[in-house]
Amino acid sequence: MGKCYRSELVGAFGCPIDENPTGVMEEAAFAAKGLDFRYLMIKVNQGDLKMAMEGLRAMNMRGINLTIPHKVEVLQYLDELSEAAEIIGAVNMVVNKNGKLWGENTDGKGYLMSLKDSGISPEGKNIMILGAGGAARAISVECALTGAKKITIANIEKEQGEVLVGLLEKRTGVKAEFIMWDKPVEVPADTYILSNATSVGLYPDVDQKPNINYDSIHSDMVVTDVIFNDPHSLFLREAEKRGAKTINGLGMLVNQGALNFNLWTGVKAPIDVMTNILKREFGL
Ligand code: NDP
Repeated sequence: MGKCYRSELVGAFGCPIDENPTGVMEEAAFAAKGLDFRYLMIKVNQGDLKMAMEGLRAMNMRGINLTIPHKVEVLQYLDELSEAAEIIGAVNMVVNKNGKLWGENTDGKGYLMSLKDSGISPEGKNIMILGAGGAARAISVECALTGAKKITIANIEKEQGEVLVGLLEKRTGVKAEFIMWDKPVEVPADTYILSNATSVGLYPDVDQKPNINYDSIHSDMVVTDVIFNDPHSLFLREAEKRGAKTINGLGMLVNQGALNFNLWTGVKAPIDVMTNILKREFGL
């Protein structure tokens, strides 16, 4: 067979997308493994996703990441879903399996891997999650599927929080509770993992922190943040002051990127390369 001049294409569809560092991480991983893959950051406006997904099929792209605002709409353009993606109701990555598009959600799995890297497991434990958006759904469903004992969701918007609690109980069988977040939230003393899954603290709002009673955090808790572009978020610094073990959002980002790499290429991702390049990007 002659030389192949065609690269395999993957990438991300989203808007906004310009500040998303995922491509840097995936391209470094492809280079490290000597794979002829290219990762393209593609701006796809709301309303244009159907065309973009048709384009993906037409161009025989190997797969794609979905980010804001496409993670839910994309479901209608897919042929198959993983169990977790189906329960979560959102997809952050697609694999093109010989023309059949399969959707998965690796956000929650990346989160679990980042816990595991620190020797932490939600199994048999009480978990409290702040927020009920996409990240909160992914994290809570994966924690439930891994055998968490109880999941408490605090959200500022009642309906969204109650819908997530209902979904967790019905689809995973976990015990779940909703707390209305209209005043500083108290973290129940029997909480093992407290997870900020809101966008509070996201760069450039690094002086913001979720409105909770930080004195209800104690030293036996593990406190985690989805925010990755300030790995020493104010939220985590407050938890550290109370003696809690803390885990930032960088590990979740790298691990979901590594899972995506594995699924697209069939090759084990070079996690160290991906971590180092992201740290360099963030000036750490
Ligand atoms: P969504 O917009 O789906 O959800 C955001 C959540 O934050 C909602 O529950 C929202 O509540 C809540 N929220 C927003 N402002 C406040 C506030 N002032 N007080 C309390 N709650 C608030 O976003 P995503 O779930 O997709 O993303 C959330 C964060 O997670 C982002 O910062 C994103 O960058 C990060 N993320 C990190 C990943 C990683 O790999 N580390 C992966 C995926 C996401 P309501 O809707 O009721 O207003």
